[in-house]
Amino acid sequence: MMKTMYRVINYLEEFKCLADKCPDTCCSGWAIEIDEKSLKKYSEVSNSYSEILTEKIDADECVFRQKENGDCSFLCENKLCDMYIALGEDSLCDTCRLYPRHIEEYGDGYEMNLSASCPEAARILLAQEEPIAMVDTDYYEVAGAMADCDIADDDDENADGEYSDGENAADDGDEFDWELYRTLLDTRADLMDIVRDRSIPYKDRAVKIVKVASELQDKLDGIEKNAEEQFDELDEEYFYLVSDIFECLKELEYLKPSREGLLNEAGTLLFSEGSDHWLELHKAFTKYCDENNLKLELKKEQITAYYLYSYFCGAVYDNYVFAKAFGAVAHTVLISELWIAKWVQNGKCICSEDMVNILYEYARELENSNPNLIKMDELLDDFKIDVDMLVRHNE
Ligand code: SF4
Repeated sequence: MMKTMYRVINYLEEFKCLADKCPDTCCSGWAIEIDEKSLKKYSEVSNSYSEILTEKIDADECVFRQKENGDCSFLCENKLCDMYIALGEDSLCDTCRLYPRHIEEYGDGYEMNLSASCPEAARILLAQEEPIAMVDTDYYEVAGAMADCDIADDDDENADGEYSDGENAADDGDEFDWELYRTLLDTRADLMDIVRDRSIPYKDRAVKIVKVASELQDKLDGIEKNAEEQFDELDEEYFYLVSDIFECLKELEYLKPSREGLLNEAGTLLFSEGSDHWLELHKAFTKYCDENNLKLELKKEQITAYYLYSYFCGAVYDNYVFAKAFGAVAHTVLISELWIAKWVQNGKCICSEDMVNILYEYARELENSNPNLIKMDELLDDFKIDVDMLVRHNE
């Protein structure tokens, strides 16, 4: 199917890999998938490096083998890639060439974001002062990243050498749900207007986002409004909601096991002393961020916008409209909770670098694992009734 549309996040060009200067590496902790074309290319190498390729590639599973410590078997001690050194840049598979560029494919084209699971991409995201946006781009402007990849090879030329329209291709038997996709695109534009509205506090924007997505989910599911219910203590209800969402993180698989222990410590620190203590921490943390110009509201806005851009329209494939919009808010809230925990652990002190580290580590666990992304959608979807009641209470 021809792809006619290419959209990229507006700060894409700011990214430059830190390579051996990176505080982490993207070549550890996960089995890097190899695309078919690269696998074929590796099998055709006939020089002295072919034995190393055979030894370090699991061709049956289409992945690079990992060392005992989880590192990619091609990762050298100086954090450079042995294959890159031996065979050059062209030898890289799609995953390695593209990362941290995150690509979503839709009926009419591709969207490219920068995954916040890379520390440099996370730093750039949190440094954005202006609202972030997806911008239309010419295919060839992103050709360096996309043209050689399998995903760009879907393009079909017809007999006259002209590209066919994506929608027509869908009409020819593709089951892509165009109607839902257009609804999601329109809704995402509305949600982006909300998240960028700096005239109101982030918390109010978050409530509006969740409300819009919840109403759309109800409409798609043919559900009338849920029964009204009243809460006496709204702050307490927020406390229980956030602590319950935090518990969801414990159900994920951990690519780096030590992060699970840190998470448990943070959970105890934040929630074990009840809602009053939690609220006090929030107030003091907000004050600290204001006094130290850490731009907490702006950072939350950018994280929510990032998750909306990365995943909301993916609901066209699984119908998790509410879970994806609520997820954008929930991930922001959870990252913010982890910032508070770090601030407490540091003796009521935190800097921008700590905030970047927490964002990329969170994104790495969530986004570098498809099972985790799917699990989170399922878990967050279960919060819909509780969240609907809280949202109505705010009106
Ligand atoms: S994590 Fe990001 S900055 Fe670090 S090596 Fe990978 S792509 Fe480069």
